[in-house]
Amino acid sequence: MGNEQSRGRNGGRKGKAEGKAGKRAAGKSTSTREPKNFMNIGIIPKTQSKPKKYAVTVLDKHTEAIYEVYDFGKLLGEGSFGTCYLGTHKRTQQNVAIKTISKGKIMAKTDIDDIRNEILIMEAVSGHSNIVKIFGAYEDADNVHIVLELCTGGDLFERVIAQGKYSEKDCANLCRQMLEMVEHCHARGVVHRDLKPENFLLDSNRESANLKATDFGLSCFYKGPDFLSDPCGTPMYIAPEVIKGKYTHKADIWSAGVVLYILLSGKVPFYGRTDEEILRMTLRGHYNLEKEPWPHISEDAKECVRTMLTWDPAQRPEAKEMLGHRWMREDGTATDKPLVASVLDNLHQFNEMNKFKKKALQLMACNMDEGDLRAVRKAFDEVDLDGSGTITLEEMRAALEKLGNKVAESELLDMWKTFDLDGNGTIDYEEFLTATTDLKKVNTADNFRYAFKKFDKDGDGSITVDEVLDALKDIGVQEEAAAEIVREADLNNDGVIDYDEFVQMMTEKNKFEEASNHVRNKNLQSLTSKVLVSA
Ligand code: ADP
Ligand code: MG
Repeated sequence: MGNEQSRGRNGGRKGKAEGKAGKRAAGKSTSTREPKNFMNIGIIPKTQSKPKKYAVTVLDKHTEAIYEVYDFGKLLGEGSFGTCYLGTHKRTQQNVAIKTISKGKIMAKTDIDDIRNEILIMEAVSGHSNIVKIFGAYEDADNVHIVLELCTGGDLFERVIAQGKYSEKDCANLCRQMLEMVEHCHARGVVHRDLKPENFLLDSNRESANLKATDFGLSCFYKGPDFLSDPCGTPMYIAPEVIKGKYTHKADIWSAGVVLYILLSGKVPFYGRTDEEILRMTLRGHYNLEKEPWPHISEDAKECVRTMLTWDPAQRPEAKEMLGHRWMREDGTATDKPLVASVLDNLHQFNEMNKFKKKALQLMACNMDEGDLRAVRKAFDEVDLDGSGTITLEEMRAALEKLGNKVAESELLDMWKTFDLDGNGTIDYEEFLTATTDLKKVNTADNFRYAFKKFDKDGDGSITVDEVLDALKDIGVQEEAAAEIVREADLNNDGVIDYDEFVQMMTEKNKFEEASNHVRNKNLQSLTSKVLVSA
């Protein structure tokens, strides 16, 4: 699931500007280690980059070289600090997730403390069924690697979207698992401080999959009775008292309440076009439980939202109390009647945008350097055993076996999904190219120009709804979705996507991705002060 190109999510925030508000660079890890390519068949020639030496040591002990212990596989996802790869233990063949944090991102002593802290906290809370296990940590000259239990079922939103339809009971099940994890952490004196949908992953694609919290990068040990004061978290999910700089573990309950609000309605409770506006709305604490789709949602569910989003943290319940609520309890009052379609539509909306981005990436990948292209072609031909020009699942399995890679069926299917963009059951060369291409190589001005021209059929310097529709009709995008894609990217509201807007769209995170880009303490400090002054 979710390689770099397919990442991202949205809880269905309607309206346009929020995704674009962020002109900030997506603070991604720039690992000096080229990720090993998918299937380890050397699809893209490695570029030789001189290893940089950083004087910093992060872990307090010398560790074995991780490359001796694990094989690196495909990219699983990127966060604001770390990059996650699939890893396979060389001896036991156990699959894991390896979160690699580039030392190049370490700017200050506090960054080192943060990484140490993340590992310590994960060790302290590991063992609960709703938290990813930590198996170990490694360090080399360039990176720190945290080895984690692998989750293959995507994140909370992806799960909900993939499900097709879901009910209050499903929401309650998800929220209950979140709260159980929160209760476990709080009992161990740990506050998560960054609860949000993308930090919850599903451990498998099975219906019975467990929700697992990951990313304890902003967590801290907290005992009380003093208050925590450093503002941190993700604007959309931050509690009002965190903005005010005086808070406790109760802030986690608020964040979980925001997630529940989104799960039930496909909307966000505190809407703003910028982080600052979102914080201002949060501080005011008004949210709507009357407009669509709330009239269709049970009183008990609304009561849970209201209770978790209690403005005064002293009045806000503990996780344990919430777990006792009749709607939240297993086999409680939450029914399995499907929620109104608009909820899923909202959550879906993002996915369409993602298709456009993928398509653009596909075009850009085709415009790559010739040497690289030849290597990809060769790899493709090797897998395409019958030379039909498309790869079938069988051929993929055979290719992997030939290479001596044992892969579980579920994992093979996951990989397959990453490749098969149009979902037609076969992989053509373009899809293969897109999935095996390193994004960093593709995001060049030349390539943007090239892809833009491909979309802009009449060459008038802008992409219209019709042109988007035309480009995406083979993957089944409807007119309405195409219009939404354009609205989403159209910063100056002239109804079309011009070149600058196109580049912006391709390089920045959209909507929920943007809102969820967790702002590390420093940035948030100035933002919260600004909001407080004006409040
Ligand atoms: P960051 O601290 O940079 O936000 P995360 O820990 O959130 O990093 O990891 C970044 C991304 O990597 C996640 O959003 C997810 O897509 C993927 N990821 C993280 N942990 C796992 C895991 N245990 N299994 C599978 N994918 C993971
Ligand atoms: Mg994260």
